Amino acid sequence: MNEERPVLLEVRNLKKYFPIQKGFLRRVVGYVRAVDGISFAIREGETLGLVGESGCGKTTTGRLILRALEPTEGQILFRKDGEMVDLTRLSRKELKPFRRDMQIIFQDPFSSLNPRMTVMEIVAEPLVIHGLAKGAELEDRVRELLEAVGLKPQHMNRYPYAFSGGQRQRIGIARALALRPKLIVADEPVSALDVSIQAQVLNLLRDLQQEFGLTYLFIAHDLAVVEHISDRVAVMYLGHIVELAPAEALYAEPKHPYTEALLSAIPKPDPDMVTQRILLPGDVPNPANPPPGCKFHTRCRYVETICHEEVPELREITPQHWVACHRADELKLVGVE
Ligand code: SF4
Repeated sequence: MNEERPVLLEVRNLKKYFPIQKGFLRRVVGYVRAVDGISFAIREGETLGLVGESGCGKTTTGRLILRALEPTEGQILFRKDGEMVDLTRLSRKELKPFRRDMQIIFQDPFSSLNPRMTVMEIVAEPLVIHGLAKGAELEDRVRELLEAVGLKPQHMNRYPYAFSGGQRQRIGIARALALRPKLIVADEPVSALDVSIQAQVLNLLRDLQQEFGLTYLFIAHDLAVVEHISDRVAVMYLGHIVELAPAEALYAEPKHPYTEALLSAIPKPDPDMVTQRILLPGDVPNPANPPPGCKFHTRCRYVETICHEEVPELREITPQHWVACHRADELKLVGVE
């Protein structure tokens, strides 16, 4: 990733706690700490993969950035006209121009498209809402967008049910591109698709990134999916980022035991390559009642006394390689080739 490019999005100490309410009076008896103080930045044209098991806070993070959820604490800075603007301080009205710059691609291409709308209506809707085109110009824009995602203009008057999963995801991508956004939050965009179709959609996203100069926050639950599309990868566990590094370094030389376990689950193309899958004991702890010290200590095979007591800070172990583990300097963990 080109270090010279300006930062487009920066998240600082972002938190989202959901209240747990009980009883007739809906008294607050605790909080689910879905996102618990994360910080990262994405440069223009970069793809940051955000990976972790379900419930780790990655989808909540995407929704906070798009301001579909109100953060409990922290800043979300977005570059507009050369200035970094804190989106958490803006009113609904002030947010409107920023909404054009940030779009989402959803996980499920089956439920994310309105079955009663034609492809033309679905893709045109954002342009109509923002008053950007009408009549013949609107139709031309939709035609261009469909061609950009590999669909034919004659598909315009059909309904979503007439398309395969991969084609529906292409419709969702065309809609996300309609406003010419700068940032796209891709929330597990291929996990509902057949493996054979996944690669096609990933290649399409990469081509569109080049063509439209897009920046991606790419959310996924396993490291295999984001390997070839990400410049850097952040691994989340229980609301925290536990490792953040350039993709190559993270895959070849992971420095957090959780990343090592996720990597061991990636299927190997060569059947002779024998690597042992690391099975994590137990479930992810309850985010309403996380363990003290290192949040991963209940499942870590390298746990020591200090891990039960002290929270490891996210620190830069080697240039650009950030890890939250007390033992990151001494452990020799296994990556993938
Ligand atoms: Fe494991 Fe301890 Fe490192 Fe946490 S701090 S990942 S428990 S070795």
